[in-house]
Amino acid sequence: MVTVLRTLLALGPLALASACGAEPQGGVQGGVQGGVAQGAAPNIVILTLDTTRADHLGSYGYFRDITPSLDALAAESLVFERCVAPTASTLPSHTSLLTGATLTEHGVHTNMSFGAQPRWAQWGLRSFAQLALDDGYRTAAVVSASPVKRGTGLELGFLHFDQPEGLERPAAETTDAALAWLEQRSAGPYLLWVHYYDPHQPLEAPEPYGRFEGDAAERAAELTRRGVPEQDWRLRAGGALTSSALVDAYDAEIQYLDSQVGRLVQALRAEPDWDRTAVVVMGDHGEGVGQHGVLEHGSLWWEQVRVPLLMRVPGVPARREDALLGVADVLPTLVAQLQRPALDFGDSASGRDVLARSARDRPLLVSTPGHAIDSEPYGCSLVTPHAQLMLPRQDGPDTPPLLFDLRQDPWQLHDLAPEQPQRVAQLSALLAEPCATLLHSAQQLSSAGEQTEAMRKLSEELRALGYVD
Ligand SMILES: [Zn+2]
Repeated sequence: MVTVLRTLLALGPLALASACGAEPQGGVQGGVQGGVAQGAAPNIVILTLDTTRADHLGSYGYFRDITPSLDALAAESLVFERCVAPTASTLPSHTSLLTGATLTEHGVHTNMSFGAQPRWAQWGLRSFAQLALDDGYRTAAVVSASPVKRGTGLELGFLHFDQPEGLERPAAETTDAALAWLEQRSAGPYLLWVHYYDPHQPLEAPEPYGRFEGDAAERAAELTRRGVPEQDWRLRAGGALTSSALVDAYDAEIQYLDSQVGRLVQALRAEPDWDRTAVVVMGDHGEGVGQHGVLEHGSLWWEQVRVPLLMRVPGVPARREDALLGVADVLPTLVAQLQRPALDFGDSASGRDVLARSARDRPLLVSTPGHAIDSEPYGCSLVTPHAQLMLPRQDGPDTPPLLFDLRQDPWQLHDLAPEQPQRVAQLSALLAEPCATLLHSAQQLSSAGEQTEAMRKLSEELRALGYVD
C-alpha cells in the first residue's frame, strides 16, 4: 500500500500542481522560526473535537458567537485555514494525527466496526505518544467515545488512558478526568491528548446551551448560502428536526463543548509552566448539517473533510496560515515549531512540516470511509490548494466526476466538471490508479484481521452508536 503513496509523492508537488492546470502555489510559505528553544521540553496538549466543522467557529467566520473560548485561543495561535481530514471518519483521522501517516500508510480506513486489529505498529509506524514517552514525557489520554477507545491502537504510548465505561460521555466528565490527571501528574514535561465527542449525533446539549434568539434572519441567510432548503430531517436516535432546528442543535453542542474547552484551557493557563505549553486543537472531520443532503458525515464534501486547526506555540506570534495540509502533517508541523527533533516521525510516515522554507503545497488524497465504500457513489478525491475533484467508484452516467473551485465556491454548489473536461481528464488520469488501489485495500482490510474479545465488544459498542459495517 505504501507503493500507492510513493507513486503520488514521486510525482511531486510540482508535477501534481502542473497537472492541476491553473493551480498556483497558494500556500503561505515562510521558513518560520520555531518558538520554544531546543532542550526546553515543552508540554504538549492536543485537543481533538469530534465532528466539529471549521466554519462553525467564530475564528473561522461563523455568524454566531458560540466559541468564545476557542476564539480566545485562536487569537494567540497559528490558525490554519486549510486542514483536511484523510476521510470523514473518526478513527482513520485520529490514526493519521497520532502516526503522521496517510490512509495508505496506516491502513485504518474506518472505525473498528469490522473488528480488525490495527496493524500499523507491525508495519513500522510509531505513535506520537511512543516518541514522547521515549523522549522522557509523561503521556496521558482522556477520550470520550468508543471509536477511539483502547483496542483501536490509539492507546499505544499512553501510560495513562482514561475512557468512558459506556459508549460515550459528555465533555464535562472528560474535562474532569483531564483536570484530575493534570493535578496528580508527576514532575516533568507531559503530552496530554483530550478527545471530545459532543457535536456528534445524538445532539443533546445540556441546559442552558443553544438558546439562540434574534438571529433567525442570519441563520436563514447561512442556510441559503449553503444551498440547504428548510425541510425535515429524520434522526438516527428517533424524531425529526427542521434544517433550522438542526443547525441550532448542532451549534448548541459546539457551544457546550467550547465551554468545557474553556475550563480546561483556563486551568492550563493557571499552571506555572503555561509559557512552555503548546496547545493544538483539531477537528477530526466535519459534519453535513443538511448540506448536500447529508445529515452527518462519511462522504467527501468539503464541509465534511475540512477541519479546524489551531496551534498555540509559546513564542510564536499568532497569525493565519493558508498552507494546505493533511491531518498527517499536523504533528510534524508542530514538532518543527517546537524544535524538538526527538518527536519527529522520521521517514516512517509521510507527514511533513508544511511551514518549512522548502515546503510547497502538496495535493491531498481523500477517501470515503471503509464502512461507506459500498454505499457512497464517490470513492476518493483530490484536494489541491484551489480545487477539489471527486471521482466516482465506477464510471457511469449517473455519477460523473465532480470538480469544485474551493476559493470561489466553498459551498460546492457549482460543479465545474462539464465546463472543464480537460482538467477533469488530467486529474482523473493521475488519480485513477491510486484511488483504485486505495479503495481495494480498504475493502480487503474491511474483511480481514484478527478479532479478539475486546474487539468484538468494541464492535458492538460502535453498532450501538450507529456505525454500520
Ligand atoms: Zn469523529
